[in-house]
Order: sequence, then structure tokens, then C-alpha cells
Amino acid sequence: STIQLSSALNYSHTLINQTVNPGDIAVDATVGNGHDTTYLAKLVGPSGHVYGFDIQDAAIAATTNALAAEKLTHQVTLTHTGHENLAKVLPADAKVKCAIFNLGYLPGGDKSVVTQAATTLTAVQALEERLATNGLIILLVYTGHHGGQNEANQLMQHVTKLDQHQFQVLQYGFLNQIHTPPYLIAIQKR
Ligand code: SAM
Repeated sequence: STIQLSSALNYSHTLINQTVNPGDIAVDATVGNGHDTTYLAKLVGPSGHVYGFDIQDAAIAATTNALAAEKLTHQVTLTHTGHENLAKVLPADAKVKCAIFNLGYLPGGDKSVVTQAATTLTAVQALEERLATNGLIILLVYTGHHGGQNEANQLMQHVTKLDQHQFQVLQYGFLNQIHTPPYLIAIQKR
């Protein structure tokens, strides 16, 4: 047999698939065109819930349509606000099984609108406090655009200092590709 080494993006779906069960609460911190939102919504099922965030009208509109096309609307709450405000949107007692961040800009959209280190970190820390045991925060980190390396550096500074008794932190990605592909960071609550 031959093992196919998967891209960071594909590996994020492998991790989501192995983590999210019917009835779970999940977060898509950067809904964009809604690919991860629909993926999560199918896994949590009608008894679970997905909270999705984006700051762009175009992203909220595209994701609303993607969810409607798959009849997944009622198990998802989309909020047109930054993920740094997620504490105001999630129920106070919500235990999050899985959260995904796809950092950077919206493909095919406005490339000047990118995620920022400070707000990304605010959201990651709010999610760390809300993670279920064995729950995952997954980040796809892009360094090729202006500001991307700074965001990645600040994120790495934060995650490498997390207490290993509370969280396991994984990094996954190809090291020798010329077009700066994203790499993956996964934070698992123990
Ligand atoms: N996963 C998405 C998909 O399947 O299409 C792609 C996400 S795209 C790489 C990044 C998204 O983050 C953009 O749509 C952008 O508007 C959004 N964004 C930027 N800053 C944000 C913030 N503070 N809170 C939430 N979303 C933000």
C-alpha cells in the first residue's frame, strides 16, 4: 500500500472528522465561502450546533447560500462579526468540541481583508477556556501574504508556551514547498 501525505488543509478535515460527533458544538472562526462550516454542520447534525463568524458581507452571504443548498441552516448560527467577539455569541456554558480558523484572506475575495494577530489571539484564548476535554482548536496558518508572518510568529509564541499538562499542541505541514503552503496548528485540551 502507498500512503498519500495529505496537505495541511486535508489534514484539518481528517482531524475534524475524528473529533466531531452528532450533538457537539463547533466553531468556524473564519467562515469565508463556507466549506468548513458545511463540513462541521454535517458532523454535528441536527442535535448539534455550529457558530460561524466572519467580518465580510460576502463571506456571510456565500456561507448562508452554501448552508441553504445543503439544508443545514437550522444547525448553524452565522454572525457577521469578528471571532474576537465569540464570547458574546456562544452560550455561556458552551463546551466547544472543535474550532477551526482558516487564517489570511478570502480566496477570490478582497485580499486586503486579512486576519490579524491580536484578534486571532483573543479568539484562540477565548476558545481555550471553552474547549471540551479532548476538544481541538485547529488553525491553518498562512505566511505568504503581507502581515502573515507576523501573525504566525505571535501565534507560535502563544501556543508554544501553553502548559503541556492542560494542552497538547501539534504542528503539521510540508517543509520544502516553494509556494509557502499553509501549515496546521492543533491545540487539544487534555
Ligand atoms: N474556511 C473558509 C472557506 O472555506 O472558504 C476560508 C476562510 S478565509 C482564508 C479567511 C476569512 O477570515 C475571510 O473570509 C475573512 O473575511 C475572515 N476574517 C478576517 N478577520 C476576521 C475576524 N476578525 N473574525 C472573523 N473572520 C475574519
